[in-house]
Amino acid sequence: MSYISSRLAVIKPSASMAASQAAKALRAKGVDVIDLGLGEPDFPTPAHIIEAAYQAAKAGQTLYTGANGTPEIRAAIVGKFERENGLDYSPDDIVVANGAKQIIFNALMATLETGDEAILPAPYFVSYPEMVKLLGGTPVIVECPEASGFRLTAELLEKAITPRTKWLFLNMPGNPSGAAYSQAELQALGAVLARHPQVLVLSDEIYEHILFDGREFISFGKACPELRERSLIVNGVSKAYAMTGWRVGYAAGPAPLVKAMNTIQSQSVTSVCSIAQAATVAALNGPQDEVSRFRKAFEARRNLVVEGIRKVNGLSLSPPEGAFYAYIGCASLIGRKTPKGEILADDTAVAAYLLNEGRVASVPGAAYGLLPYFRISTATSEDVLSEAIARIKTAVGQVE
Ligand code: PMP
Repeated sequence: MSYISSRLAVIKPSASMAASQAAKALRAKGVDVIDLGLGEPDFPTPAHIIEAAYQAAKAGQTLYTGANGTPEIRAAIVGKFERENGLDYSPDDIVVANGAKQIIFNALMATLETGDEAILPAPYFVSYPEMVKLLGGTPVIVECPEASGFRLTAELLEKAITPRTKWLFLNMPGNPSGAAYSQAELQALGAVLARHPQVLVLSDEIYEHILFDGREFISFGKACPELRERSLIVNGVSKAYAMTGWRVGYAAGPAPLVKAMNTIQSQSVTSVCSIAQAATVAALNGPQDEVSRFRKAFEARRNLVVEGIRKVNGLSLSPPEGAFYAYIGCASLIGRKTPKGEILADDTAVAAYLLNEGRVASVPGAAYGLLPYFRISTATSEDVLSEAIARIKTAVGQVE
């Protein structure tokens, strides 16, 4: 009956967007809801970046660009990898797309055969399994418990690899857990991968600049240079420069993969918006003081949330090492009763309860493959976060 492709049957809409929509629907009814569902920086894009976009538009940079971006953006990305990550790439090794999300989509489209497996350490970014499934692959979920810092270990990785493994996804610092990896931890994973030459690595480093407690960021490419020919280092301007709406992501990778991704790009979206590319050049080449100002603000908010949530009986939170989320454990609420007599059967019920009774929108752990948790975004002001924590505390306090 339906004219929708059967391809779509395997995927579901983004859970964080769904949470946000549920919050909006309640708001439309006049309910005062705090939306901590969707994660994007609440800061404006730095003024010099906006100015560069305006100047580019006025100067006539309003035409299609090459599928792999303008020469200027590729040079700026090469410079960024060199300066910030100690990675030596050439402009030909670079791909540019509409956000890191499209980079990941193109990489999977370029490589997955039906039944190929992608190892996803859980908790994972909600879009990974859906993209893998949409493109015919099979997600292999590896639960990475909080007790080991939500990190994938060499042992877990070794167990998950099969002859069909095509990709290992890494995301550091991670959404939703905030987990970061040390050089030694990455090298331990690299040692396993060295024994399995069929496995490609997608390292999603989009939160690299949002790292706390003085931690230094090590790119997977820097930690494991011997895997360069099968590593795709993914990044973008969305999080570091408060540019989520500009839709620019980029990556560096091996020649055959880059070539295939550029072919997809040329036959689908043609190129990224020329003006957004000019803005990205200004972001990467320009002053970086706003990036560290944002980082400090995110760290202060992380501290506030950890302190606040730890005072709530029934919830637990290990301090996130980076990114702007808190992945809050709610195991001790499961099976208990709300004031209306409903049983909190799982973390989806907990998130629904917090929305309807606490008026705080969050995303249940079910969306991220590791339960029972719920994720809140900490990318909002300290006042709003304090109010949200107070509401969560009251709601949780009423659970019998
Ligand atoms: N990767 C991760 C881990 C993310 O959390 C997000 C955004 N929520 C993205 C990629 C997408 O970033 P972009 O805006 O560059 O598409």
